[in-house]
Amino acid sequence: MVAAWDAVIVGGGHNGLVSAAYLAKAGLKILVLERRAIVGGACTTEEVFPGVKFSRLAYSAGLLRPEIIRDLDLARFGYEVHAFDPQFFLPFPNGESILLWNDPKRNHRELARFSKKDAEAYPKYVAFWTEVMELIEAILLESPPPLPDLLGMFKGAEAEELAKRLLLQSAADLLDEFFESAEVKAMLSATCCSMRSTASSRRSGTRRAAWAASPKPSRRQPSTTEPPSTRA
Ligand SMILES: Cc1cc2nc3c(=O)[nH]c(=O)nc-3n(C[C@H](O)[C@H](O)[C@H](O)COP(=O)(O)OP(=O)(O)OC[C@H]3O[C@@H](n4cnc5c(N)ncnc54)[C@H](O)[C@@H]3O)c2cc1C
Repeated sequence: MVAAWDAVIVGGGHNGLVSAAYLAKAGLKILVLERRAIVGGACTTEEVFPGVKFSRLAYSAGLLRPEIIRDLDLARFGYEVHAFDPQFFLPFPNGESILLWNDPKRNHRELARFSKKDAEAYPKYVAFWTEVMELIEAILLESPPPLPDLLGMFKGAEAEELAKRLLLQSAADLLDEFFESAEVKAMLSATCCSMRSTASSRRSGTRRAAWAASPKPSRRQPSTTEPPSTRA
C-alpha cells in the first residue's frame, strides 16, 4: 500500500508550518493537522474582543530567522516588518508606569525617574546580552548540543564565568547585579518569568529566561524591535 503522506505534522503553529513548508519544498507530501480553526499557534492575530484584533501571545518577529524569511519567500505572501515604538509599557498599582522607546536618550530619562544608576546601567545590560547573543547566534540553527559541548563553547576563565552565570544562576541575581530599582527589575523580570517560564525569577537557571526576555540586538533581520527593547 502506498502511504498517502510522507509526513504528518500534528499542530499548525509556527514550527509545524515552517517544518511543513520546508518538507513540501523538498518534494514530500505533507499533512498538517491543527485542532483549532486557525493556524499559527501562539503567533496569530485574532479578534479577541469584538472589533479589536491583536496578537494573542507572540507580538514581535524578532526571533524569526532571516533564513526562513528568505527560503520560504515570505515577502511574496505578504510578510512585512513594522517597527513598533513605544516598545514596552509596564503600569504599576500606584499609578506609576515605565514606558520604553526605540530612543536610548528617552529611555535614559524614563529610567532615571526610578534610579539614575539604573538609567546608566541599562545600556550596559543591553551590551551584556549583545555579547551573549554573539555566542548563541552561532548555534541557533543547530540541534541542541549536549551540555559538555555547550560548556565547551565557553573557553577561558572569563567565558567560563559567563557560562556559569548564564546557565546556572537565577534571573533575579543577574538583575540585582545591574539594577537597584524595584520597578526596573520588575519590568525585566516580569517579561522573563511570566512569558518564558512559570519559574520564579529567584530560581536557579532562570537567567537564560532573562536572555529570552532581554533586549536583543537586531542583527539577525530587520525586526519589529530595535535595541534597546524589552521584547520577549
Ligand atoms: C506569552 C508569549 C509571548 C511570546 N512572544 C513571542 C514574540 O513576541 N516573538 C516570538 O518570536 N516568539 C514569541 N513567543 C514564542 C512563540 O510564540 C513560540 O516560539 C511559537 O509559537 C512556537 O511555535 P510552535 O509551533 O512550536 O507552538 P505553538 O505556537 O504553541 O503551536 C502549537 C499548535 O499545535 C496545535 N496543537 C496542539 N496539540 C494538538 C493536537 N493534539 N492536535 C492538533 N493540533 C494541536 C495548537 O492548537 C497550536 O496551534 C511567545 C510565547 C508566549 C507564550
